[in-house]
Parts: sequence; structure tokens; C-alpha cells
Amino acid sequence: MTVDVRVGCWLLMGISGEVGWGQAASAEGDSHILLCLFRLETVLSSYTRGAMMKAAILYEAHAPVAVKEVEIEEPGIGEVLLDVVGAGVCHSDYHYVTDHRTPRRMPWLLGHEGAGTVRAVGDGVRDFAVGDKIILSLDAMCGSCRNCTNGRPALCETHRMEPVSRYKQDGEPIYHVRPTFVEQTLALADACVKVPDDTPLAQACLISCGVITGIGAVVNRAQVETGASMAVFGCGGVGLNVIQGGVLAAAGKIIAVDTVDYKLELAEQMGATHFVNSAKEDPVQRIIEITGGGADYAFEVVGFPAIVRQAIDSVRMTGTAVVVGVQPTGQDVSVEGWHLLEDRTLMGAFHGAARPRVDFLWILDLYKQGKIKLDELISRYRPLDEINEAFADMKAGKVARSVLVFD
Ligand SMILES: [Zn+2]
Ligand SMILES: [Zn+2]
Repeated sequence: MTVDVRVGCWLLMGISGEVGWGQAASAEGDSHILLCLFRLETVLSSYTRGAMMKAAILYEAHAPVAVKEVEIEEPGIGEVLLDVVGAGVCHSDYHYVTDHRTPRRMPWLLGHEGAGTVRAVGDGVRDFAVGDKIILSLDAMCGSCRNCTNGRPALCETHRMEPVSRYKQDGEPIYHVRPTFVEQTLALADACVKVPDDTPLAQACLISCGVITGIGAVVNRAQVETGASMAVFGCGGVGLNVIQGGVLAAAGKIIAVDTVDYKLELAEQMGATHFVNSAKEDPVQRIIEITGGGADYAFEVVGFPAIVRQAIDSVRMTGTAVVVGVQPTGQDVSVEGWHLLEDRTLMGAFHGAARPRVDFLWILDLYKQGKIKLDELISRYRPLDEINEAFADMKAGKVARSVLVFD
């Protein structure tokens, strides 16, 4: 495909007669070449216009997800079309099924954690080429807003994850942000992170959301100090990565809290040092006992206000409670005012305060060195058609993470 681009460009240059071979290095020549490439990208894009593919669509909450044929548009300005290779089944998607979070538009095309290869690029995309391996970031980063320039691109003020519709099903629009439960996805180039060619995408797709959300909450946002104690409420796909973050930060005690014993076993594999089944004992009491007065940090990775309250109640004076879990739409969080007055901090950690084009790459480096676990996080690979079974496994607490894989 790359060869085709070059040949086509030379052909166009020859036909136009405006650019000689020797002019390629001149400013004028460069602009002609760019124009040429733009035209070619448009031609290439047209190959994908109207392509049909399977996608997982939510039509209404509390109902099974439907896997249907959809039609995708061609990539527009600044967009990249990816062949999805792996898509992690994250709890945030299931939150839409249960209406814990209400999609802003329906029908909703699910998925947000994923990785793939570039199939085509739209006009103006210069940093990515066909065949590049990409981990899709949950967030797009414009690079020029206040938060992007201040090192906080996870909360880019330009790209605010507004729903769009680039797919149709039987001629009707379907809404989404950057869906991954679909064979091909259109993404802003600003949301793409190019990774080395030897990156195994069916595993590395987890870095897109679950891994960076967990590890980043510890090392980027809370900045847990060596030897500190930390509690982790909820040991699902993200919570296990909070535990990994604690290991990376060399936390002294990592206390795993969950209601499912299997999840606590997974937590031990990821490096937790103490275990509390909160269905059987009061986690706040136990954490205070284990730490001799309260943890330095407590991470809420479930997504319920009552557990945020447990997290802040289980940290010592001067301690920090970190909200990582996706909270229900429209609900308040309450804390005892006196607890805040004793120099406790309650902070949020959106997407691990990620700087995706930096963080994804060092996470891959540490994965290759055996210092970050990805394979162990994946309990099962499934085809897209089994998305409802993957959600059922998640609900039953049977898996750390399921990954949807595509041919
Ligand atoms: Zn997620
Ligand atoms: Zn920005």
C-alpha cells in the first residue's frame, strides 16, 4: 500500500507537470507533494467508503447488546481508520448496559479500549501511515489547549468526547465516541499512539484504558511514595492495575478489597500484600488495623459513592482518597467534613492523568522487561459475537479482563 502511494504521487506529479523531480526539496515542491498526498489519501479513503462490518450496539439499557452489520464513513480531516485487532471489555461499557452511566445518544456503539493497525488516513494526517500499529487512547489530545500544554492531556479541553455518528445501521445513525467493539474504527489522529512494530496488540490493547487508568492513578496522579500504604477498593480490570501501580511505586502495603475471593486471588498475583473480603468484614476497620491508624492512600475503583466514603474513612490524617471508579450519573459523594479538615485529600483521577504518547510507551517497555503484567490480566479471548457472554463473565466476577479479538 505504501508503494502504491508513492507511485501514485509520482504519477500525479508527472501528470500535473508542476513539480519536477529536482524540486522536491524546495518549499514550493514540498507544498505540491503534500497536496498530492492529500489527494491520494482521499482516493485511498474512497476504498473504504460504505464498508460493511460487524459492531456491538446498545439499543436500550438492561437489554442484551446486539451484534449487527453497520456501514462506516470514510476518514475525514485529521482522522485515522483502524482495523481493530484487540478490544478490552471494560466495566465502563457495561455501565451503559446497566444504566449506571446513561449514554447521551442512542443507539450507542460500544467499546473504548482497543488497539489496531492503520487501514487509511484522512486529509491532514501526517504522523501515521497505513500499517502502523496504534494503541487508541481513551482521550484525544489537541496539544494546544491549557491542559494539553500543562502536561494534562487526558483532560484536553478541545476534545471533550462529544458523541458523533460515523456509522449507520440500515440507514439509521448510530452514536459513539471512539468505539472499539467494531471491526474498523474511525479515530481522531489526536487519539492515536503509535507503538513499535513488535507490539502484540491483542494484549497491548489493555493499555488504552484499564492499565493506564490504574497505574496512572498511582504514579501520575496520587504519586504514591516509596513505602507508603495503600488500599484498593475493587479488584477488577482497573483495580488490578492500581495494584500494579502500587508495586511500581514500591508501596509498603497494598491492601486489596473485594467481595469476590477469586478477585482477591488475582490481586495477590498482581502484587497485593493484604486481602479483605468486604462481604465478610468491615473493610474500613480492617484497613485501620492493618496499617495501624489508616492507609496513606485509598483508591476507589468500583464506582459507587458509598465506597468513596469507605475510601476516605480508611485513610489516616494527611492521607489521600482517590476516585478512579466511574460514578453513577447525577449522584453526589458525601464525606465527613471533619475528615477533610484533618488534612485528608479527596481527589479524582481521570484516565490515570495519562500522557498517552509518553506513558503507553514506557508501559510497553516495562511489559517487555517483565515488570508490568498484561498477559496475566487477560482471562479469556472471545470473538465480537460473544460480547454478551463477556459481560456476563464480568458481572459474575469470573474474569480479570476479556479481550475481543478480530480476524
Ligand atoms: Zn475503560
Ligand atoms: Zn488539548
